[in-house]
Amino acid sequence: MKKIYLKKSVEKNIKSGQPWIFSGAILSEEDIENGDLCSIFCDKNFLGIGYYNKNSDIRVRMLSRLDVKIDINFFINRLTVLKTEKERYIPNCNSYRLVYGESDNIPGLIVDIYNLKYIVIQVHTLGIEKLKKLIVNALVMIYNPEMIYEKCDIAIREKENLPKESREVLYGKLYKEVEIIENGYKFSVNIVEGQKTGFFLDQRVNRNSIVKYCEDKTVLNCFSYTGGFSVYAASVAKSVTSVDISKKAIENAALNFKINGFDTKKHGFIAKDVFDYLKEMQHGQFDLIILDPPSFAKNQKHLKNAIKAYITINSKALEKLPDYGILVSSSCTSHVDQTTFIKILNQSAVNAACQLKVLESNEQPLDHPYNLAFPEGRYLKFFILQKYPIL
Ligand code: SAH
Repeated sequence: MKKIYLKKSVEKNIKSGQPWIFSGAILSEEDIENGDLCSIFCDKNFLGIGYYNKNSDIRVRMLSRLDVKIDINFFINRLTVLKTEKERYIPNCNSYRLVYGESDNIPGLIVDIYNLKYIVIQVHTLGIEKLKKLIVNALVMIYNPEMIYEKCDIAIREKENLPKESREVLYGKLYKEVEIIENGYKFSVNIVEGQKTGFFLDQRVNRNSIVKYCEDKTVLNCFSYTGGFSVYAASVAKSVTSVDISKKAIENAALNFKINGFDTKKHGFIAKDVFDYLKEMQHGQFDLIILDPPSFAKNQKHLKNAIKAYITINSKALEKLPDYGILVSSSCTSHVDQTTFIKILNQSAVNAACQLKVLESNEQPLDHPYNLAFPEGRYLKFFILQKYPIL
């Protein structure tokens, strides 16, 4: 295996679990093909094995700190540990994120498991593309799945010299729509036409936490997608209105109400821009409003606009809530950190001339962990807040 020698100053970080080696950290490197494995050294000390790409500022992504062979057994061992540990703490669910890239020590790879037998993977890097066969074979050995489907459409693939979009059945046959169970609720997941891998598994815990605030309430779920929060709310609420710009997502939300036995006539399903809907709706129309928008900033350049957009929707929602109403507000923009998001919420309260009290807050669930050695993996913010008048 070809070798890379690092500067002394980064040795400690790499040893302690930092997964990225930037070009500036490299002292010397042998001639390595993009996407190939390489071994990492600092002087004579072996630091581990990673995969290389000259086209990326992140020259190497680390796979192991041990002197192991990267073969099918390596992936069987890695994935089996992740399966055991994640299933141990996620009861009443048959779907979860098995691999969350860098944070789960397999950089560049996402693996979502649906109903324990339909697997969707995202390949972000050339290194993982070259290891894909081994990974798929390991997943087949562990899960004996009906399908492994690859689906990815993100800009980083182009930097890695991969086609921007990939969609392909890698094993078994194509199942376009599958049904999953999450905390006892059923969801129909459209893997092919849905967003990302089909379902936002990262809000599983947060969806459960809103139920107690929804009893006999009129609930508005903004950016509802296929009605994740809506279905939970509908189990106890007077009515739930789901709003999303995607007509397909709203149709899927109505289907999810049906398969859970809820009368769709009692509830609202609206395909509309949330920014417009919040402006037009009546004051006091809803007792509880949920805001779970998509990421508003893909990079640092968009941060200012993202903050503005968050303040707009949170201020509007707060203006329209009655006193003592509940605002559930989330952000999945990794460039907006926890402190910034709290400032956004506080500014929104000022704009709406009210006070906000935090009833609950949360971050990512354990199948989307962030590794303390890799803070870039931290992205989800979630708050349940109560609107108080200024006293
Ligand atoms: N809360 C959802 C996930 C939301 S993902 C769940 O629990 O599953 C973000 C959603 O926002 C997507 O469905 C996307 O279609 C929708 N969206 C993006 N921009 C929008 C806009 N301006 N108005 C309404 N919906 C929008």
